[in-house]
Amino acid sequence: MTFRLFDAPLREPSHFVGYSGNRIDRRSEERADDSASAALADRSARLMLMRGGRVYLKLNGTGFDPYYELSESAPLRPKLEHAVLLGWAPEGPRLAVPAGLDPEELPDEIKAIDYRSVNVQGLLDEEGLGVVAQGAALLAWHSSHRFCGKCGASTEIRAGGYKRLCANCGTEHFPRTDPVAIMLAVTADRCVLGRGPHFAPGMYSALAGFIEPGETIENAVRREVFEEAGIRLGRVVYHASQPWPFPYSLMIGCFGEALDEDLRYDGRELEDCRWFTRAQVREILAGTSTGGVFVPPKAAIAHHLIRAWAESG
Ligand SMILES: [Zn+2]
Repeated sequence: MTFRLFDAPLREPSHFVGYSGNRIDRRSEERADDSASAALADRSARLMLMRGGRVYLKLNGTGFDPYYELSESAPLRPKLEHAVLLGWAPEGPRLAVPAGLDPEELPDEIKAIDYRSVNVQGLLDEEGLGVVAQGAALLAWHSSHRFCGKCGASTEIRAGGYKRLCANCGTEHFPRTDPVAIMLAVTADRCVLGRGPHFAPGMYSALAGFIEPGETIENAVRREVFEEAGIRLGRVVYHASQPWPFPYSLMIGCFGEALDEDLRYDGRELEDCRWFTRAQVREILAGTSTGGVFVPPKAAIAHHLIRAWAESG
């Protein structure tokens, strides 16, 4: 008897997307209110410094290093009272800390790079990039949850940065992850790609949208494709996921089986939407397409959905 539930590639598809290489040991059961300060007192602690959607990377000759020793970080004016303990690397604790120093004031050997460019340009190894996603999401959540949503009083950081507590009404607030469905509607031979008005000229991608309260992943996929492209889907299967720190989403990549092929879109959310044959998509991926069409880079989960389908037939 074969156990089909876990029939899957040896390396799960999520392994190949950007921001997915985080190996931090989170030790979530051990978090205490003094976890971050205790970690900062550890000489093996390393800090990742972030500000305004950018991470401060050190030039180290051959590439970039995202980590600072505590003493080394002082000129960047780390706001240690806002430090978040991400967890442990084999070498010691890792923390994300907001930087007080403005990017314009950085010394030449430190560069402030936005999270998207760190991913697309491959400036860090996959492990470092994964930690950027964790730190960026947590610091963004803290900066937008300084007040209690229940009573409006100030909240305070707790559990090493994995909780905020309202000192007035006692409500506990926990970091959010917002699920987004990203999907490729397919038939045996064709798939749907669309382009938003803000896309670079020529770029087409998978469709995507937030999963709403009370909705399953599968129903969100069917709704989004119908709303954006007018296509009804039958079966939906999960393929891969991607942490997406803009500011704290999780992209959930799926394939949906198209039940009809008449595209209908209103031109607002999507500027254009088309069926592409597998042969066309293979040419686009190979860079041999003559139509000026391209798809997102390997850093994006959309690329992996499109490639997996193109190589599946
Ligand atoms: Zn409150």
